[in-house]
Amino acid sequence: MQDEVLILGGGVAGCAASILLARKGRGVTLIEREPTPRHKVCGEFLSGEALEDLHALGINAASLGAVPIDSVRLAAAGRAAEAPLPFPAASLTRKALDTALIAEAIAAGVRVERGRSVQSLGRTTSNVWQATLDDGTTCEAATVFLATGKHDLRGYTRPEDPERWIAFKMYFRLTHAQASELGRASELMLYPGGYGGIQPVEGGIANLCWVVQQRHLARVGNRWENSLAKMQRDCPHLAMRLAGAEPVLAKPIAITHIPYGYIRRTTENGLYCIGDQAAVIPSFTGDGISIALHTARCGVAAYLAGEPAPIFQARLRSALRAQMRLAEFAADGLNNSLSRAVLPFCLRVWPGVMRLTARLTRVTQPAAVAQPAIAG
Ligand SMILES: Cc1cc2nc3c(=O)[nH]c(=O)nc-3n(C[C@H](O)[C@H](O)[C@H](O)COP(=O)(O)OP(=O)(O)OC[C@H]3O[C@@H](n4cnc5c(N)ncnc54)[C@H](O)[C@@H]3O)c2cc1C
Repeated sequence: MQDEVLILGGGVAGCAASILLARKGRGVTLIEREPTPRHKVCGEFLSGEALEDLHALGINAASLGAVPIDSVRLAAAGRAAEAPLPFPAASLTRKALDTALIAEAIAAGVRVERGRSVQSLGRTTSNVWQATLDDGTTCEAATVFLATGKHDLRGYTRPEDPERWIAFKMYFRLTHAQASELGRASELMLYPGGYGGIQPVEGGIANLCWVVQQRHLARVGNRWENSLAKMQRDCPHLAMRLAGAEPVLAKPIAITHIPYGYIRRTTENGLYCIGDQAAVIPSFTGDGISIALHTARCGVAAYLAGEPAPIFQARLRSALRAQMRLAEFAADGLNNSLSRAVLPFCLRVWPGVMRLTARLTRVTQPAAVAQPAIAG
């Protein structure tokens, strides 16, 4: 099978890139290993930039049932502080979002191959990219967009995650009283060894997503139940939210190896890396989806303008670096604020700091990346 562009991975970045390319009349094949969209580990917070980019792709999050989010609360130990969000935001399950994105890609004319996993990527003797799938068949194209998200392809791996983060996601049906207390807020909770967030999603349920360092998980026997119980002991605010809540899934879904702060340095000719394969921002910013959409848009613009992939990747790296550093700095600050001495101070200044950090870590500000216009 040969097409003009091959897109590996049909999540946010891969679907967005495929839609933009197909709309420019390019022949695109997208390969996605899941036969149908399923739950993914994600806080499911959609920033204003993500909502705008989705809208431009033909996806109206509100019509899919997205819940508007107006404020962010920070909770640690027994205290909480709230700040209004300085931009519009919403939350939507990844299952709903990914379903809509794949449908939009098919409608745009993308050839979508689902339930097929890419095993390896290489070049033929005539220097064309060749992806080998799990059934041994191959797909060839002059250009590839690597968009496999958290999953690395052999030969194109990202560095080790030194903190050995593990992330979990679980849906809960909160009691009526707790659901109305949560309201239209995204709550960020701090505890030793990690942080978590809870927010309402469509269908009257709440998403609890948390990250914990491996050494802290090991201390509670490497069991998610113990991790959740410990978080509630360390952060009574979470215990209050979950009191009487019913779990919606049999157990949380989990992922490991999250190289927060990673930005890809370089790539090969004809291989544009986008989404989490380009950069991984700390989760608490709620900006990963926005970056995935942004890097897809920039990658497509670069490809259509004839910019070689290595130049695109280097340019993207320098455009993202400052915001990524700030997000990492803020993440460290949040974790360090757990010390008893500074916690009251942090909670007091949180609303102002949150507004500033939210503005500065929005990597998709138009001025942040000078990109060639999409021409075609
Ligand atoms: C704990 C946590 C919480 C987060 N919370 C938020 C949040 O609230 N808001 C936010 O904006 N971002 C959040 N993020 C980040 C966000 O989830 C990612 O940045 C975003 O999903 C990246 O999009 P992507 O397209 O690169 O990857 P994905 O959306 O993960 O898509 C990758 C796709 O590639 C497919 N794939 C993988 N390997 C292969 C293969 N070999 N062959 C074929 N297909 C393959 C996968 O099945 C998948 O569909 C969070 C991340 C974590 C870890």
